[in-house]
Amino acid sequence: MSMDRREFIKIAGISSLLGLGGVSGVGAIKGRVEASQIKKSPEALQAKRWAMVVDMSKFKTEEDYQVCIDACHRVHNVPHITDNPKHEIKWLWPDTYEHSFPGNEDEYRADKYQHMPFLLLCNHCDNPPCVRVCPTQATFKRKSDGIVMMDMHRCIGCRFCMAGCPYGARSFNYKDPRPYIDESTQNPEFPTRMKGVVEKCTFCYERLAHGLEPACVEAAKEVAAKKGTTPGLVFGDLEDPNSEVRKILSERFTIRRKPDLGTGPSVYYII
Ligand code: SF4
Ligand code: SF4
Repeated sequence: MSMDRREFIKIAGISSLLGLGGVSGVGAIKGRVEASQIKKSPEALQAKRWAMVVDMSKFKTEEDYQVCIDACHRVHNVPHITDNPKHEIKWLWPDTYEHSFPGNEDEYRADKYQHMPFLLLCNHCDNPPCVRVCPTQATFKRKSDGIVMMDMHRCIGCRFCMAGCPYGARSFNYKDPRPYIDESTQNPEFPTRMKGVVEKCTFCYERLAHGLEPACVEAAKEVAAKKGTTPGLVFGDLEDPNSEVRKILSERFTIRRKPDLGTGPSVYYII
């Protein structure tokens, strides 16, 4: 879905008439590189619909999944805000079974599942409600590969997308995030955000454009290599019958979060 500047200004004007404007989307990104400037290299990884499998049996310790979270948050300059849980920004995060798969609780299920922290992220839904409710098309689904993107320049901070997402996959910058980014590890190649915009996982579109797998997937591979096992995160093309993701889905029992809502999540879990 492309939009030129004239169309954007028109939509932004309509939004402000509706009283939706929390922040001007223009200038929302002040990092060295802007999202729209990330161009594909000849080595870019391609898929018709990117998907991920999370094999929870591979995440034995808190460190196992924290390595993946840290890798994601470091490369995307995700601020570490701990003074108010409401202000926390998370792209990849752990949560309980009860919160991850509501409606599937069972008092007789083994304790280890009840207390296991599940690794959660945006599901890059096939039918994303967040996209439908965004008044400025700041969030949109890429036709080429199904990634649900965020364009910070268009985000007016109305948070309709947060209300629309049934997975809590979006975070709002209630305060300027930049002072909460560790300068020593800041990634100058990825834009930082500003107060008043929403953010979330974008399946590392910027890394895919350069032939690299998502940062969390790469980190999971490193963990697996050290342990002599297979990785807990697998990324691939759901539309390709020969992809690793499809191979796993054909051999293992997997579940998705809230499938009954009809959103079509692209993240699968092996428990
Ligand atoms: Fe949108 Fe939420 Fe689905 Fe991600 S998980 S695509 S934010 S509805
Ligand atoms: Fe973060 Fe990329 Fe993994 Fe999404 S796919 S959780 S953006 S590292």
